[in-house]
Amino acid sequence: MNRAHNFSAGPAVLPLSVIEQLQSALPEFAGTGQGLMEISHRSSAFDDVIETAKARLRRLMSIPDDYEVLLLQGGASLQFYMTALNLAGPTDAVDFVDTGTWSTKSVKEAQRVCDAAICWTGKDQGYRHVPGASESLGERSNGTYLHYTTNNTIYGTQFQHIPASNSRLVADLSSDICSQAIDVSRHDVIYAGAQKNLGPSGVTAVLLSPWAVERSRQMEKIRPGGLPSMLNYGLMVDKKSLFNTPNTFGIFALERVLNWLEELGGIPAISRMNLHKSQLLYTELDRTGFWVPHAETASRSMMNVTWRIADDSLVETFLHQAAESGLKALKGHRSVGGLRASIYNACPERSVLALVDFMREFERQHG
Ligand code: PMP
Repeated sequence: MNRAHNFSAGPAVLPLSVIEQLQSALPEFAGTGQGLMEISHRSSAFDDVIETAKARLRRLMSIPDDYEVLLLQGGASLQFYMTALNLAGPTDAVDFVDTGTWSTKSVKEAQRVCDAAICWTGKDQGYRHVPGASESLGERSNGTYLHYTTNNTIYGTQFQHIPASNSRLVADLSSDICSQAIDVSRHDVIYAGAQKNLGPSGVTAVLLSPWAVERSRQMEKIRPGGLPSMLNYGLMVDKKSLFNTPNTFGIFALERVLNWLEELGGIPAISRMNLHKSQLLYTELDRTGFWVPHAETASRSMMNVTWRIADDSLVETFLHQAAESGLKALKGHRSVGGLRASIYNACPERSVLALVDFMREFERQHG
């Protein structure tokens, strides 16, 4: 087996030990005589899996006991719509902090069902930064909630703090969930697609405060015809995420990833490692004018490191030579160009060290 150093933005690298556990669960799972993908989502074996997964997420993120944990489908993109549908009525104001492509998409979906508007945008500055710790976001005083994206996968920026706002908060944590500590109790909804830090694609973690569940129950009554079952938080809570057939394989994988994370020492341990890995890369980017980092220093992401080469014509050569050296998926997103290294929880330090070594050698040859 020849696993490359994988810097994919998502679906992203998984711990090899988890992949091996998945592999061995496929033909026969937990003494059932059936494979992992062949058991009922209503079986006791699967019930154990999903309940253990939720319990691990609760422990890791210190989720308050009165919050609900859902494991749904449809990706974070469905949550752009579903949060607004469940939390805000047609005339309710909802404000969005626009820190890049995913925030822009989230407001667009919310506009279909409520009075959603962008209150702060980093667009004019090329999404190089997120709002400062005490910066006013200009949200409306009568807003139902404020939505923000904690980590901007494409631009490589990340909030280093919870936004300065008294509003209720809804946050998209798709690309930094479980990578560092976050005060869940300060948020009413947190959601994240699994395919970066939690497992494979096809599972979405959704955390709901009691207020959020209550709002969903109100919207079920207020919205003409009620909420579509599959988009109804209240119903998903009542059915413990098993209203219909979930992604059983994905949920098992997520449970195993969270087990790996707990064994590693949980959020305190992984956040130290993530800081260290990102510092290795940023130190290299700051060492020489050969590289041009995209994000402003105070907004730099620990998960997605984005940069260009001062001589843009070298990017293709860089990608080609990197791939030949076993360093994969370093191409920047098409809307930013340049290069991006996604270094999520499961990306080992040795991959980052290999990348830094490669960069030094590349600069020596081409600088
Ligand atoms: N939000 C963020 C921050 C993302 O990075 C992504 C995917 N890269 C999405 C939302 C969309 O996620 P999904 O593909 O699960 O809908």
